[in-house]
Amino acid sequence: MFAAQRYRSFTQRLSGQHLFFGLVGIVYFGASVLFLSRWESIPSLATALGVPLCMLLLGSFAIKKTSRWLDNLERQLLRFAENPNHSVLDLRPLPVRHPLAAGWNHLLARVHEHSAWNGVERRLSEAVHSQQAKRWETAFQNLTDGIAICDAEGKILQFNRSFATLLQRPDTTSLIGMDVIDLLSEQVEEAAAQRILSMANNQATQVLEVQRTADLTQGVWRLSRILPTNENGDPSDSIWTLRDVTQLKLAEAAREQFVFTATHELRTPLANIQAYSETLATVGELSVEQQQNFYNTINNEANRLARFVDELLNISQMEAGAITIEKHEVQLDRLLNEILESQRPLAVEKKQVFNFSVAPKLPKILADKDKLVAALSNLVSNAIKYTPEEGKVTVRVDSDASRVLFMVEDSGIGISPEDLPKLGGKFFRSKDARVQDIVGSGLGLAFSQEIARLHGGTISIRSELNQGSCFTLEIPLR
Ligand code: ADP
Repeated sequence: MFAAQRYRSFTQRLSGQHLFFGLVGIVYFGASVLFLSRWESIPSLATALGVPLCMLLLGSFAIKKTSRWLDNLERQLLRFAENPNHSVLDLRPLPVRHPLAAGWNHLLARVHEHSAWNGVERRLSEAVHSQQAKRWETAFQNLTDGIAICDAEGKILQFNRSFATLLQRPDTTSLIGMDVIDLLSEQVEEAAAQRILSMANNQATQVLEVQRTADLTQGVWRLSRILPTNENGDPSDSIWTLRDVTQLKLAEAAREQFVFTATHELRTPLANIQAYSETLATVGELSVEQQQNFYNTINNEANRLARFVDELLNISQMEAGAITIEKHEVQLDRLLNEILESQRPLAVEKKQVFNFSVAPKLPKILADKDKLVAALSNLVSNAIKYTPEEGKVTVRVDSDASRVLFMVEDSGIGISPEDLPKLGGKFFRSKDARVQDIVGSGLGLAFSQEIARLHGGTISIRSELNQGSCFTLEIPLR
């Protein structure tokens, strides 16, 4: 280590040596003169020794004075060499009294320049790295998939916002250190939790789809667990990703429902038409009454087929945004008569009380009559369909200064609170066995809602299971 108290500088050493050899020379010279003159002239000897001695002292002093910059340089270099934390930027230039000092200063300037560049480069690269890190962090946080990075024991080390949101744990800090399997398991039913556990026990990378409860709408997750390996090829952390695929699954279920409904709705009337027409063609001895019944059945089934095809066309037009309405002035009583006359036979068939109440003075409205008739007929036919025999169906029409209200009320099977928000979704039909027993496509209400919307109106629903329902179609007057 550099020890200042024991350190003798270059100048001290040089002037010391200068002094020592000078003194030895003078003493030797003095002794020689003394020996040769045999002690005869002591005063001239004193002069002969004194003058060079003074010169020697002066020379030594001059060396010390002029080479101080060399001491400075030596000290700096020593300090630099002995202290690992010392930076080149701490080296100082020297006063220019010698070409060597000028060279040193020049060298130092170059080194400083270089270091400064290195510093700038370092800071630049740090800035770039921190920018990149920020970008990754932003991307990580804003991914729609939930991601959690866990240690080898499955404890969460890091996770993004979507992960917390999907687990309904908005307090983001609370998840660190928690067991990922516990967290996922507490959000799903027992059977699904078991599947997650067996996935975690498997050493391979896994993807799993779990339905949180028996009800699809409560959520379906696509979970994946990735086991990245470290530089030694050993598995270290685990990465869990979580995606909400509920909408995808609902769309798949709707598609399956559609295939089922379409097959049923096309096959059944076709089979009936085929059977009855074959009977008419092959069986010779049929009474006129029997024949009439057969023709009626064929006609009804053909109508059912046509209705379903119409509904499908309506929906596909709706999807394409191609349904347009042509508004004309419409006389409401005529429109209502048309609906009631077409629907009454169905109510009569079911021995239902079919009431009709219209406010005495109804305004004329601007509407697409055929489409409005179709939308309202659908509400009335549903009321009749989903009301048991001898039940009651009431159609009321009222208006005020700004709107007309068509209310279709029934004393039927009603709608459960869980089904209520799903009504109007394409192909949605209640799972209630009483609904499943009745023929339907699940498209009518969606179409009626679209027609109401195109008229600037809405359909609102009030219903209580087993008590009945009230569908209100509201259309603004202007
Ligand atoms: P569909 O009647 O052909 O099934 P809709 O789109 O007209 O199709 O109706 C969708 C669903 O809404 C029905 O399947 C039924 O579950 C429910 N629904 C509609 N109207 C009523 C009603 N008046 N009473 C009870 N449920 C109804």
